[in-house]
Amino acid sequence: MAPIYLDSHAPTPVDPRVLEAMLPFFTEHFGNASSRNHPFGWKAAKAVEHARERVAQLIGARLRDIVFTSGATESNNLAIKGAAARAPEGRRRIVTLSTEHRAVIDPCAALARDGFPVTVLGVRPDGRVDLDQLSEAVTADTLLVSVMAGNNEIGVSQPIEAVVRIAKARGALVHCDAVQTAGVLPLNVRELGVDLVSLSAHKMYGPKGVGALYVAKGRPAIALGPLVDGGGHERGYRSGTLNLPGIVGFGAAAEICRTGMAVEAPRLAALRDALLHGLSAIGGLHVNGSMNERLPQNLNVRFDGVTGEGLLASLAGDVAVSSGAACATAIAEPSHVLKALGLTDDEARASLRFGFHRFNTDQEVVRVVSIVRAAVQRLRSM
Ligand SMILES: *Cc1c(COP(=O)(O)O)cnc(C)c1O
Repeated sequence: MAPIYLDSHAPTPVDPRVLEAMLPFFTEHFGNASSRNHPFGWKAAKAVEHARERVAQLIGARLRDIVFTSGATESNNLAIKGAAARAPEGRRRIVTLSTEHRAVIDPCAALARDGFPVTVLGVRPDGRVDLDQLSEAVTADTLLVSVMAGNNEIGVSQPIEAVVRIAKARGALVHCDAVQTAGVLPLNVRELGVDLVSLSAHKMYGPKGVGALYVAKGRPAIALGPLVDGGGHERGYRSGTLNLPGIVGFGAAAEICRTGMAVEAPRLAALRDALLHGLSAIGGLHVNGSMNERLPQNLNVRFDGVTGEGLLASLAGDVAVSSGAACATAIAEPSHVLKALGLTDDEARASLRFGFHRFNTDQEVVRVVSIVRAAVQRLRSM
C-alpha cells in the first residue's frame, strides 16, 4: 500500500486544480509581467494581478500591499532584516519568541551579530507567549516584534491581537509569520492591525518557491530595505522577474483555501481528534503543546518507553511523519520548539509531528493508528 502522507507542515500536496491553473503559464503564456509593450507581457501582468487579488483576499489585505517573494523564508528575512536596515535612531530592538521558525530565529541572530539588541522570549509550557513577559520586553527602543500565528511543529496559535496591542502601545511594528495559519483559519490582517505578514504557497496546496510578504500601508509608509536590488519590481521591495507560474498557482491555491476553509478546518480537526483518540488508547501518550489553542491540522505527541528514532524508523515506509521541522531534522538536533516547552533532549527526540491535509481520509487515520500501535508495542517489548 502507498505510504500515508501526514507531514503537511513541510509541504502540503499540490492541489490538482492549482497545477492545472499553472500549466499554461509555462507554455503559451510565458511572457514577462514587466513587458509593457505587447500582449505577452499584458497577459502575464494581468495574471499576476489576479493572483495578487486572490492572495490579498485570503488575508483581508488590500491588493497593493502584497509583495511576492520566493517563499516565507525570504518574506521573514525581508520583514526583519528589511526593517532593521531602515531602523530609526534609538529604535533598534527586535523582540521574538524561542519557538519561532528558523527563518525568523536566524535572521534575528544575524542582526544580533551585527549589534542590534535582540530579545528572544521563552514560552509557557503550553507553547503560548507569556503576555506579561512580552509587555515587559517590548520597550520604547523596540523596532519590531515578530510572533508567529501558528507553530509549524506543535501547531500552537499565538494571541496575535494581544501582541499587536502591546507592540503598538510602544510604537513598535509587528511581524507575523502566518505560514501555517493562512489558508486554514480565517485571518484578517487589517482587523488584527499587524504590519508585516509572511505567507508561503507550498503550505497551502500551492507550488514551492513562491510566497508573499504583506506590507501594511502605513503613514508614513513602513520602511523596509530590500534584500535584492535590481529592476524595482514589487514596488522596489523585491526586484527580479516574477515567478509567473508560481504566482498563478499561489493565487489559485489561496482562492481554493479561502472558499473551502469553513468546511475544511472542522474536517481536519475531526481527523486530528480521531487520531488523538486512537493513539491515546495505546497508553503512555503525551501531547506536546496546548490542545485548545492549536491549528486543526496538527498533532504533536510522544510515547513513554520508545525512542523517536526507533519509532520514525519503524513507521518510515508506511506513514510519512517527522520529529520536527524539516530543516531542523537535517541537522539531527532535538527540536528547539519542543525544548522551549521544557522537554528533555530525549523527550523532544521521541516526539512525532502529524500534519493533516485536504486529501487525508478517515480510513487513513484508522490505518495510521494501527500502524503506530504495532510499532510502539514492538519497540516497548524489545
Ligand atoms: C515552511 C515555513 C517557513 C518557510 O517557508 P518557505 O516558503 O519554505 O521558505 C517559514 N515559517 C513557517 C512557520 C513555516 O512552516
